[in-house]
Amino acid sequence: MCVFCEIIAGNIPSRKVYEDEHVLAIMDINPLSAGHTLVMPKKHTEDFITADTETVHQVIDVTHTLAERIVKALGAQGVNIVTNVGEAAGQSVSHLHFHIIPRYGNDAALSFHEAETPVDLDDVFAKITA
Ligand code: 5GP
Ligand code: ZN
Repeated sequence: MCVFCEIIAGNIPSRKVYEDEHVLAIMDINPLSAGHTLVMPKKHTEDFITADTETVHQVIDVTHTLAERIVKALGAQGVNIVTNVGEAAGQSVSHLHFHIIPRYGNDAALSFHEAETPVDLDDVFAKITA
């Protein structure tokens, strides 16, 4: 069983933020910011790309609701909603989860503007729209 399936089964303790028949949300054990929460399907599903549509919808619905609740509860000024797919993207647990990472303006939790990669935009555009 993967570590999140162990948590879902109750074999590993966690701080449960939300739970229903299909979805569990827990506090991240190693938070990038105060309130960093993980939202996952109870059914073992490797990642966002291989997940079925119903599972994606269930997890995104809960992520949507919780993001608003967490931001308000903690007085955050923004929030990153992220799901990593594959080792190259930093996925370390192969069980689909969305990260809710509240942002406070003065933290360095995550940045999309640090490492800019030179890209041939015309070539990439042609490939993804072929
Ligand atoms: P990933 O790197 O796969 O996108 O995210 C996995 C996340 O799960 C990490 O942020 C990590 O801190 C968290 N995590 C790993 N093991 C545990 C655990 O046993 N309990 C909790 N609550 N979070 C965990
Ligand atoms: Zn699992």
